[in-house]
Amino acid sequence: MNLNQDIVSSIKGLINSPKKIVIISHANPDGDAMGASLALYGILIQQKHDVTVIIPNEYPSFLAWLPYCNKTLIHKLEPQKASKEISEADIIFCLDFNDLKRIEKIASDFTNSKAIKILIDHHLEPSKFTDITISVNKTSSTSEIIYNLILDLGLTHLLNKEIAECIYVGIVTDTGSFSYSCNNEKTYLIVSELIKLGVDGESIHRLVYDTYSEDRMRLLGFCLSEKLKVIHEYHTAYISLTKEELKRFNHKIGDTEGVVNFALSMEGITMAVLFMERNDNIKISLRSKGDISVNEIARKYYSGGGHFRAAGGNSYVSMKDTLDQFEKLLPTIMPVK
Ligand code: 5GP
Ligand code: MN
Repeated sequence: MNLNQDIVSSIKGLINSPKKIVIISHANPDGDAMGASLALYGILIQQKHDVTVIIPNEYPSFLAWLPYCNKTLIHKLEPQKASKEISEADIIFCLDFNDLKRIEKIASDFTNSKAIKILIDHHLEPSKFTDITISVNKTSSTSEIIYNLILDLGLTHLLNKEIAECIYVGIVTDTGSFSYSCNNEKTYLIVSELIKLGVDGESIHRLVYDTYSEDRMRLLGFCLSEKLKVIHEYHTAYISLTKEELKRFNHKIGDTEGVVNFALSMEGITMAVLFMERNDNIKISLRSKGDISVNEIARKYYSGGGHFRAAGGNSYVSMKDTLDQFEKLLPTIMPVK
């Protein structure tokens, strides 16, 4: 990946003396959101900056072991403290999101802040909400961009095992353990450097993927045996979960991570969707294979977006109406065999 060197120089200039820096990532943070943010945090604190990582709501428990994770400020739990940090910041880095809607209630503090704002992201079609933008969509993850930025900033000597672990988690989770968005030798060369820095890939895999609670495992079973709807004609499979169903399985944030991928892994299925009822909306996760752009579908119908084959959005009508509308859409969005 070749980052624009004029942009790299301007970031270098901005961080050449200690500053108050805030790093913000998106709601329902995933491995890449957390990994990229904490890796950048790990670099900047070594340069004596005063750094705070702020996320809208809690991270899932399978990421709680990440280095520096306990330093994260969760806006939902400490809104006033988060507002103060954002209003006093000299620089705000926005990592792993392409639209202000993705940081939910943080957006107004962010907009009011006089800080210099820098976006580093890999989603398609970023909105313009920062002074500086590094947007590379043909890459595995924001964490991979952060790795390249660290090198280009001349800060390779600050990489250590903790930072390498954060970057590794970002790459592993955003590629589904090296199964998509990584047909690129550069990603593997970076991973090789991370292993040299002391990353233990096998134990990280166990920490991230082999730590299901019994409730989470049974919820997955319920989704696949009771809630999976397969529409062969349109090569589509979807799962819907109401609030009551989530409650029945004691749902915790992160428990449905990966569920939609099971639906996509069926032969002949080229689009899979998970609909999850929240208090005020239905959260929608879309995945595809081949040439179906779920980014386009999420943008057009669900005020969302994301990547070509992994995107998300929201619906503001009932679950029943959302599913009816979705099924009616299929003839227009899916090719019939
Ligand atoms: P997930 O389905 O795992 O929540 O998200 C899949 C991808 O779509 C992620 O890259 C995520 O950042 C993006 N995404 C999820 N929900 C939204 C949304 O509401 N709006 C936008 N713009 N992107 C989303
Ligand atoms: Mn990402």
